[in-house]
Amino acid sequence: MSFSSLAVDSSEKAEPANAYWKVAVEAPLPTALTYAVSAEMRADPRLKRGTSVCVPLGRRTVSGILLGPTLPDGKFELKNIISLDESRPVLHESFLQWLEWLARYYAHPIGNVTEMAFPPLEKKEKLRKSNKAPVTPTLMADQRPELTEEQARVIGDIESSSGFNVHLVHGVTGSGKTEIYMRLLEDVVKAGRQGIVLVPEISLTPQLIERFARRLGDAVAVIHSHLTPREKTTQWWAMMEGKKQILIGARSALFCPLPNLGMIVIDEEHESSFKQDEKLKYHARDAAVMLAKYSNCPVILGSATPSLETWHNAQSGRYKLHQLKARVADRALPSIEVVDLREVKDLRRQKGESDLPFWLTEPLYQAITETLEKKEQAALFLNRRGIAQAVVCPDCGYVPECPNCAVKLTLHGRSHLLCHYCDYHETMTEQCTDCPDGEPKPIGLGTETIEKDLARLFPEARIARMDRDEIGTREDLERMIKEVENREVDILVGTQMIAKGLDFPGLTLVGLVLADVGFNLPDLRASERSFQLLTQVAGRSGRHLNEGAGRVLIQTYNPDHPSITYTVAHDYEAYAAFELGFREALSYPPYWRLVNFRVQGLDLEKVKKTAKQLRTRAQTLQSRNPAYAPIEILGPAQAPMAKIRNQHRWQLLVKGPDAAALGAFCRQLVENQDWVAPAVKINVDVDAVHLL
Ligand code: ADP
Ligand code: ZN
Repeated sequence: MSFSSLAVDSSEKAEPANAYWKVAVEAPLPTALTYAVSAEMRADPRLKRGTSVCVPLGRRTVSGILLGPTLPDGKFELKNIISLDESRPVLHESFLQWLEWLARYYAHPIGNVTEMAFPPLEKKEKLRKSNKAPVTPTLMADQRPELTEEQARVIGDIESSSGFNVHLVHGVTGSGKTEIYMRLLEDVVKAGRQGIVLVPEISLTPQLIERFARRLGDAVAVIHSHLTPREKTTQWWAMMEGKKQILIGARSALFCPLPNLGMIVIDEEHESSFKQDEKLKYHARDAAVMLAKYSNCPVILGSATPSLETWHNAQSGRYKLHQLKARVADRALPSIEVVDLREVKDLRRQKGESDLPFWLTEPLYQAITETLEKKEQAALFLNRRGIAQAVVCPDCGYVPECPNCAVKLTLHGRSHLLCHYCDYHETMTEQCTDCPDGEPKPIGLGTETIEKDLARLFPEARIARMDRDEIGTREDLERMIKEVENREVDILVGTQMIAKGLDFPGLTLVGLVLADVGFNLPDLRASERSFQLLTQVAGRSGRHLNEGAGRVLIQTYNPDHPSITYTVAHDYEAYAAFELGFREALSYPPYWRLVNFRVQGLDLEKVKKTAKQLRTRAQTLQSRNPAYAPIEILGPAQAPMAKIRNQHRWQLLVKGPDAAALGAFCRQLVENQDWVAPAVKINVDVDAVHLL
């Protein structure tokens, strides 16, 4: 008899070792709950970590996951687990550990994390019966281009290491990163394993999916937010049963508990949309790195403009850096010209009014004309939807605002005033609602105005607008991409939507109408995001030109802004060094970690009071533990977006040099929320990205 079983046997009237189990219950509870297990169930070999169960919760029966045997805490009589749930596959150990990590790190209820590992619906009967063996997918080897030297080197380097490694593939736009992913994934499939490819939701176009499907054939499954629950469920099971090998999706694809994960690819890893802002506030890139770690497989992060977090990790040697310095087939990077709007303004003042609309300078006008003459395509980019940024009364200065959110209303069409944060809209009145004589006028600029002006200036040109107003559905987006691809569009006008990953052969001119939008947002990553956006948008130009180079014109009031000068120089590394200098001096990420506590509720006074109490509690907690001494507590202050959907928002920022200590501090701080006023909520956002 072993020592450990002796110890159990010696306790008086010992309960069997597995009489009580911890269960992650699918409900917003701060911790797992303990349940009793019947003698019959104790004999069942399926009683193990990762198995789904049905348990009573109040008067309901809910699903949960077995986490492990435990001891009863003795206070209450514990209820029995009702049954083992066979409709769901058992979560394997490494995956379950990853889910537990997510719950701990992001301070989220464990049951609300584990429930994400399952599809929305039950498996269909028909499917359940079909017991086809996994198929060997057909790979289309004949479609492969010959690798460039750089591509071959990167693939060789990545494949020479095994097990868990984080690889950053830093390659300029059009350097053939996607080709690299596809080669690596082919090898994953050949080795009989499975892979996940994460791309930003907006890039998950048929264009991209087809590209993978052409190569990886019927190995590809896709999950995105526009699938019906039934479609999602089907794709999920196809992966789980090994009928498909490569899962392409946005963030949530990570949660498919693949039995045989061999690689994760994150394209455009710098994209802030990989951070989920509600419920489990995870960053899909960081979560993917951890999943790869638990699964002991490589993860490939790709970008032309890596996030500073990732770049910092690559510089310090934690991630392996692979670089592609040239576009494929010796295609040139676009030439970037900066048009100083201050000079243009002065010139116009001297020479009198120009025929051109105020947002369009002579050089950009010329460039569009030349592009159209060559029968090539142009794209104009402005990060603002609508006709005008706002409407203002010239008499009294009144600006219509959303009654639910602390933002100005944006004019769309002729008279439609819209809030970009909630569904609120109203009709613009000819008479000011705030003074007797005023007639409100639009100020600022939006994509709709640009489209209208272009139609007047270039009556022959076919113009299309790509923004969230025009592109309501996924089908709209797909249709418009096809039209641009087929050259049915000469000028494309868009918001940042058109910046992301699109690859149009005929596009040779990109104009940035006003690059400055976004420079001055009160967000620590505003400059980084501007640089990324400018470089990405510029990268859409001339991707398929074998001779000459695409053109990019940047119109700006701040030609000396580092986001612009480093974009013009095509020098990511210099930009990163420059910006990292700031981050280090200010103790910001990636040097320090940052957690945002957002307090929100309908009653402003209660929100404020709770935020202040939270600060006091944080200070007390800090004073009691020397490990928390380096932590800095900032605020509370009103959030830059002070009210959204009638919810007032205050925030308390907490940052610290050590992730583990900061994590422990934050978990402790919100462990007990009995003191929080009813109808006020504290949202914990670990490694917060969106601070507005
Ligand atoms: P990135 O993902 O780095 O922006 P892509 O993988 O989209 O670059 O490649 C840009 C273009 O070059 C695509 O049209 C792609 O088909 C093509 N391409 C990629 N690799 C090669 C290669 N080795 N030979 C020829 N063309 C290639
Ligand atoms: Zn609103």
